Amino acid sequence: MEKILVTKSSMPSLDEYVEQIRPLWDSHWLTNHGSLYMELVDKLKTYLNVPNIELLVNGHMALEMTLQAMHLSGEVITTPFSFASTTHAISRNGLTPVFCDIKEFDGTIDEDLIESLITERTTAILPVHVYGNLCNVKKIEEIAKKHGLKVIYDAAHAFGVEYQNVGVGNFGDASMFSFHATKVYNTIEGGAVCFGNSALGDEILSLSNFGIRTEEIVDGIGGNAKMNEFQAAMGLCNLRHVDDEIAKRKHVVKLYKEMLKDVEGITYFEEQKDVKSNYAYFPILVHKELYGMDRDALVEALKEHNIYSRKYFYPIISDYDCYKDIYDSSDTPVAKRISDMVITLPLFADLEDMQVERICTIIRNLKK
Ligand SMILES: *Cc1c(COP(=O)(O)O)cnc(C)c1O
Repeated sequence: MEKILVTKSSMPSLDEYVEQIRPLWDSHWLTNHGSLYMELVDKLKTYLNVPNIELLVNGHMALEMTLQAMHLSGEVITTPFSFASTTHAISRNGLTPVFCDIKEFDGTIDEDLIESLITERTTAILPVHVYGNLCNVKKIEEIAKKHGLKVIYDAAHAFGVEYQNVGVGNFGDASMFSFHATKVYNTIEGGAVCFGNSALGDEILSLSNFGIRTEEIVDGIGGNAKMNEFQAAMGLCNLRHVDDEIAKRKHVVKLYKEMLKDVEGITYFEEQKDVKSNYAYFPILVHKELYGMDRDALVEALKEHNIYSRKYFYPIISDYDCYKDIYDSSDTPVAKRISDMVITLPLFADLEDMQVERICTIIRNLKK
């Protein structure tokens, strides 16, 4: 039986990449904002339709340094239904994460619960466009304005997503994108921050290079989080193909939905209105009473067929060993419940129709 993994990194042809890195053998300029980096900055600004962007070594450091650059203090309201990075970025800045529950129908933060969590110590909100699903950006902006809070979006999943023709990176004070190998668009490892206020960019760029402002002035306690030229080269190549890849992903998701729509006990999120999706993931929810098998059993059964899905996200962050003594995950019951039901199925541009059909037939036949 052919093995199907949950994801497969997008890559250009070897020749295309070699051509892209060839000039580096003349310049010997490998990192510290070289010409490939500068070219990628320009191209991504256009592609993502944003006024400002800085590129960093990975998405996590982009988020960590954005929070640092904002000089926040106290509490940050966020979602426990995310990847470790979101909450860790808050904690590693000496800030206190406060977990808000999510909405059942799209997995994003429940904007109606945010205000009840605001205290006099709250300084920011860090929501996640989870699976590329857009948060309620309008309502969140209203709340932030009313209470004088910053909004930083974890847009790691949302590369290329648009809302009413506006690039997702335009919402909030800043948005972080991840260009990790497993994401829709990759620079091997990599990440970016988009923001409206250009002073913030100078701060982030400086922090990502040890807080070095000029040759003789170091005015921030930064680290090292620069994107190098080999990453930028991969980014330039992958950017040429990303629209094509997203179109192929769309086809895969459409096929999954058609083939799974009548399977009792299996549901999925609907497409959001006015949102141009990037088809980053295909999460399904397993309803044990109707399907006759719980999520964990289905993951194991798929494995026996050599199909590797992922419990993404399980456990929720407040149940991690490093947080569970401080938080009670039953405070966010929806996140907890969804996390017990969810699987992301294999999804990548080259996944073939036959493979999708095989996966769906197995899921259909496993129903008790
Ligand atoms: C991938 C991811 C990150 C971290 O990005 P890296 O580029 O891997 O550092 C942060 N948040 C979410 C939701 C992610 O999926």
